[in-house]
Amino acid sequence: MHILVFNAGSSSLKCHLFDWMGVAEHDTPKSAIWRAHVDWSRRSAPARMTIESAASTKIEEEISKPEIASILRRLAATLPASPELACHRIVHGGSLFAHAAELTPEAQRKAMTFNHFAPSHNPIQLEIVDDAEVLFGPKVRQFGVFDTAFHATLPPEEYVLAGPHHWRDRGIRRYGFHGISHQNVSRRTAQLLGRDLRDLRLITAHLGNGCSLAAIEGGISVATTMGFTPLDGLVMGTRSGSIDPGILIHLVRQHGYSAEMLDAELNKESGLKGISGISGDMREVLDAAASGNNDAQLAFDMFTGSVARHVAGLVTALGGLDALVFTAGIGENSPEVRDAVARKLRFMGIEIDQEVNNSKPIDQVISKTGTRPLMLAVRSEEDWEIARQCFAAAGSMLC
Ligand code: AMP
Repeated sequence: MHILVFNAGSSSLKCHLFDWMGVAEHDTPKSAIWRAHVDWSRRSAPARMTIESAASTKIEEEISKPEIASILRRLAATLPASPELACHRIVHGGSLFAHAAELTPEAQRKAMTFNHFAPSHNPIQLEIVDDAEVLFGPKVRQFGVFDTAFHATLPPEEYVLAGPHHWRDRGIRRYGFHGISHQNVSRRTAQLLGRDLRDLRLITAHLGNGCSLAAIEGGISVATTMGFTPLDGLVMGTRSGSIDPGILIHLVRQHGYSAEMLDAELNKESGLKGISGISGDMREVLDAAASGNNDAQLAFDMFTGSVARHVAGLVTALGGLDALVFTAGIGENSPEVRDAVARKLRFMGIEIDQEVNNSKPIDQVISKTGTRPLMLAVRSEEDWEIARQCFAAAGSMLC
């Protein structure tokens, strides 16, 4: 059995083909046998495509008409095996999808009703589902895994927002995102610690271009920092995170801002990029700070301060903390960020082991022996988790 995973964002598409033969539900993630990355950040320009496979040499090429159907046709022509399942990451499943689901025409229609909640993700992800159906035909079953689904367990005091009562009728509430990553990382943490997930109180810190925390009690998400959209919560690469909403009113009234201008500035020009004036990429911020740039240092301090402050806040939802787990591009790779967050949380008993932290740790404990709460760095493995959840959903539908 081969499982093809599509993980599409507004600027790129990542695809992985997994050989699922003999894989058991809680196996540790295995490498894909084929992977592709398509950069379509400029939709009118050629899309850049990189395809790697254990069976052949790396392919790098440009595709002049970056329509999704032609990109998928080109990718499919390089697959070393035919997939039986096609699995899709879908960002927004609203309150209708609490689990992975087969993307029947009815499920696709339901998912489309959330397109306006995630306009730069859902439409493109559902377009891929349509084109994949044409390409592979009905014998390849298609499933969706929703970024919001893991947070379907949030209690009302976490998902209701303190706006006017009618917001609830309009679906304006906290949904939370990065659920696929938070779910996988919490499960892997329990495995790595040799503990039962049901006995653990965890905070998982997904720190990538987008950043969010989840408070997870007994494997269930009970609080999270992203909200109605992925703009809320932590300072991110180019997103502001939580800011005073009065600023938006001021910009509209005094500076004539439109919704498009607010969207562009809050999503693309804020966060690390806005503070540093240099970049939303943590590596570039770290380099600039190391060479004495004060704004880059300020961006780093505000980023790590925002993580620490939100971790401390989320502990209240758990009534204690067994482990703080770092994942995604920054969380997995930056000892500087993990160290600075740990220092800011020292009052909670957290202490990082500097030697381990600096040794490119992955899937391991990074806190000092004997200290509590524990700290870990765990790979996000979103694509494996998407395949795992779809395989489980497909299997349960056969029973
Ligand atoms: P992601 O969205 O998970 O791909 O993460 C992207 C972020 O991870 C960017 O801000 C990168 O700068 C950051 N990142 C990747 N590698 C490193 C590294 N070695 N040190 C610091 N940040 C990194």
